[in-house]
Amino acid sequence: RAAGMPAIKTIEDFDFDHQPAARSPIHALASGAYLSEHRNVVLLGPPGTGKTHLATALGVAAARQGQRVLFATATDWVARLSEAHTRGRLPTELTRLRRYGLIIVDEVGYLPFEQDAANLFFQLVSSRYEHASLILTSNLPFSSWAGVFGDQVVAAAMIDRIVHHADVIALKGTSYRLRDRGIDTLPS
Ligand code: ADP
Ligand code: MG
Repeated sequence: RAAGMPAIKTIEDFDFDHQPAARSPIHALASGAYLSEHRNVVLLGPPGTGKTHLATALGVAAARQGQRVLFATATDWVARLSEAHTRGRLPTELTRLRRYGLIIVDEVGYLPFEQDAANLFFQLVSSRYEHASLILTSNLPFSSWAGVFGDQVVAAAMIDRIVHHADVIALKGTSYRLRDRGIDTLPS
C-alpha cells in the first residue's frame, strides 16, 4: 500500500536522541489522527537530519493503519502531473490522487521549479487542501520557497494552504550520514 518509498524506514529505528525535539510530535503523528483531520506535516532541516526517514516512517505507519499512501520526490510529482496535464487529464488525476489519504512529497527545494511546474504543484496542494493529507520535506526554510517556486505570490499562496492545518517539525544539527565517520558539517 505504501508505493514508491525508497527504503522502508520506521519510527522504531529512528534515534530520537539525535533529534530530541522531534520525539513527541512524531510519536503523536504516528497515531494517524492528522490523516482523518486532513492535516499536513512539514519536515524541515539540513541534509542528513532524517527528513526522508521520518516521512517514510509516517507513511509506513499510515499504511499499517489501512491508509493508501504514495511517496515521490517533488520532481517526480511534477513530472507525473505534467504528463497528466499534457494528456488533458490533470483534473482526473488530481481527483484520483485525492483517494490517497496520504501523499508524501520529498525534497521540495533541491531543484527550483519552472513556472509551469510551480503551477502544477500549486494545483496538487490546492486540490488536497482540507480534503487529504500531505507530508512535505524540504532543506529550505519557508522564507526561501519563493526562490523554489520562482514567484513570491505563488509561494505565499502555497505555504498558506500547506501550513494552515499543519505540524511543522524542524530537524536540526549535523548529518546523521556523516556522524559515524567522524566528519562534522558547519553549523547551520
Ligand atoms: P534527509 O532526508 O534529511 O537528507 P535521511 O532521512 O535520508 O536525511 O537520513 C540519512 C540517513 O541517515 C538515512 O539512512 C536515515 O535512515 C539515517 N538517519 C538520519 N537521522 C537518523 C536518526 N536520528 N536515527 C536513525 N537513523 C537516522
Ligand atoms: Mg531526504
